[in-house]
Amino acid sequence: MDFFNLMEEQTGVRLNEVQKQAVQHTEGPLLLLASPGSGKTTTLNMKIGYLLLEKKVRPERIMAVTFSKAAARDMADRFDHFFSSLTDEKVNFSTIHSFAFKVVRESLRKNGQAFQLIEGDINEEELKKGFDGPDVPLHKKFILRRIYEDTNGVQAPDDDMDELMTYISYVKNRMVGDKELEKVKCNVKNAADIYRSYERFKKSHSDQVLLDFDDMLTYCHQILLEDAELLSKYQRQFEYILTDESQDNSVVQHEIVELLAKPQNNICVVADDDQSIFMWRGSDVTKLLQFEKIYPNATVLTMSQNYRSSQEIVHTANRFIKRNKNRYPKEMFTENESHQPIEIKALKKYDDQLDYVTEAIRNSSGEEIAVLYRNNSSAIPLADRLDKEGIGFYMRDIDAKFFKHWIVEDILNFMRFSYNDRRIDVLERIHTKMNAYISKQQIAYLKRRNTKESVFDTLLESELPSYQQKAIPKAKKLFQDLNQMNPYKAIRTIREKLGYDHAIGKMADKFGFNAEQLFSVLDNLEQIAEGLGSLKDFAFRLKELERLIQTSKFNKNKSSLTLTTFHSAKGLEYDKVYMIDLINGVVPSKEDMDRYRKSETDLMEEAVRLFYVGMTRARTNLELLSYQYKGNERVSESMFVGNVKKIVQPAAMKSSTKKGKRPVPDLNDERLLKYEDIELGREVFHKKFGKGVISEYGGDQIGIQFEDVGYKELLVKVCLNNGLLIKFY
Ligand code: ATP
Ligand code: MG
Repeated sequence: MDFFNLMEEQTGVRLNEVQKQAVQHTEGPLLLLASPGSGKTTTLNMKIGYLLLEKKVRPERIMAVTFSKAAARDMADRFDHFFSSLTDEKVNFSTIHSFAFKVVRESLRKNGQAFQLIEGDINEEELKKGFDGPDVPLHKKFILRRIYEDTNGVQAPDDDMDELMTYISYVKNRMVGDKELEKVKCNVKNAADIYRSYERFKKSHSDQVLLDFDDMLTYCHQILLEDAELLSKYQRQFEYILTDESQDNSVVQHEIVELLAKPQNNICVVADDDQSIFMWRGSDVTKLLQFEKIYPNATVLTMSQNYRSSQEIVHTANRFIKRNKNRYPKEMFTENESHQPIEIKALKKYDDQLDYVTEAIRNSSGEEIAVLYRNNSSAIPLADRLDKEGIGFYMRDIDAKFFKHWIVEDILNFMRFSYNDRRIDVLERIHTKMNAYISKQQIAYLKRRNTKESVFDTLLESELPSYQQKAIPKAKKLFQDLNQMNPYKAIRTIREKLGYDHAIGKMADKFGFNAEQLFSVLDNLEQIAEGLGSLKDFAFRLKELERLIQTSKFNKNKSSLTLTTFHSAKGLEYDKVYMIDLINGVVPSKEDMDRYRKSETDLMEEAVRLFYVGMTRARTNLELLSYQYKGNERVSESMFVGNVKKIVQPAAMKSSTKKGKRPVPDLNDERLLKYEDIELGREVFHKKFGKGVISEYGGDQIGIQFEDVGYKELLVKVCLNNGLLIKFY
């Protein structure tokens, strides 16, 4: 039987003509540029099957790579699903990273050189060195922290550390030369110098080569360039190279693949530029554009029929992505049926969102469901709620960092101290973060006195400055009350009455921490505390939740519910998708918006692509969820939801901009901005504020960066009904 008929019989998938062409194009370079759900991964898998079954290629001659280990496992599962009854051959699906690591190990071993990995899990021996000693533990984070402090003379805030790590990944993955380092944007002071010192440290620290994850790639690249024998060995081994999700390959990854593919160049590159979401760590879509330059005999195929999603989803996503200017124009379409309109829910409170999602999941009947979010921190309260309701889930990217966060430690210490206010060691950790104003000297005094009585009593017996004479008894009383409270109330008391929120705000200002993120850790703690009886229950629940989250990655085939970040959902599909926490500041992030206001569009376009990846995961149902209040804070619906609304409910949006009560100038005046003219980046003239650029648009609000008065958020309705905005040509 013809291969394609056999495939149809086996898998139920009848490949279209372009897909067949791609499968049969085994010799020479091929670029398959195609929309989400158009069958790229399916085609790639079929092509591997074709190589094995029709061309009788040995599986070890095939290199199949994708962007992450988890994605590689998914691809392998899909391959098995298609081919396990047809062949026993096992193809190795992996990442470029793991191949690179193999090459580096082999080369170093060949040269008799020892190496040590300094990223990932840290070993106990290293940790014992402690952070303040002469030798920092040999781990990327510790080394960088130390260099940061030596260079900048201050402690490194976590945000700076995160940004520094991203910067280093970026410059390595992009192969940025030494002279160009300063040109790469990074808000960390002296980032380029810190990076240079870091590289020097790794090379000269000991007789072992120190390697971080990104070094795998740069070393591998270098080795392949220098060791002709090794290169030729791998070139001979891998007769066929196939890369999925190639829009997310970094420059150095592209270069490695190019080297390996030579001289036959039997390379199949599968990509969608609209789904490029790792630009921040060095992926480079422009490399795909150069494909025909690198390989003048290349075949380039495109596909735009989506087989995954309903009419509604495909139509809306296709229009949504057009907000981006920097993309290859394409039109995605589908012949799938219409199903249900995209649901847009603006809930009142954050809690309502949890209720809503939980209820929806409970009422579902076995469909595959995914809840998608931008940040891992969104998963914590959700996991907590689902677990309390007895709903199991599979979590794709585990990030239990939350439970180790210093804020969590602080809150637990406040609680611990409420059980025993004689513990100077606990007080020492929190005394600067509350409004009893206990100084370092007083801590030293308490230690000297070592009275074994309440620290407050000891302090009260000493000479106190006037501002503490009321504050100390008040703190004593609050701590006494604290351990009788339920944990929710206790956290509120710590934050408000004991002045923790205030202290955190001040710390954020002083050290440049991201205050919003810190407060969101506290909000999450409150969420977890809700409904629990005692402080001990709370501490226990935190432990339990940490364990639950860490083990939920083993539930892959046990649960039809997946919780995942947008990033990790790439390539996957579900019947129903709930995208949650869609508020400005999260999606897009605050930084995306800040940069956008300064007319830097790259980050915003990446946020748009990320949202697009999220939307295109859904087969039949897509729901976009937001809320108006997180705690007491008023938040605004994501501008992307506003964009979607404009696509799916244009009539409703227009009617909401009808006449208001105030007398209005001639609204038919051609020069006035109309609802359909609202477009990010458009220049406008406001009757009161003057010239500006539309830099945000989310539902009922419009954000304009004015030349004279700066950034302002205005109500769309008010602006349009009163003819306040004039188009600026
Ligand atoms: P993404 O960009 O999200 O990674 P993709 O292009 O890799 O998507 P696939 O995951 O391969 O798309 O396919 C999407 C869905 O469409 C799958 O359920 C697949 O089985 C189905 N499909 C692919 N090609 C066809 C076809 N020719 N006929 C019917 N269904 C198809
Ligand atoms: Mg795919």
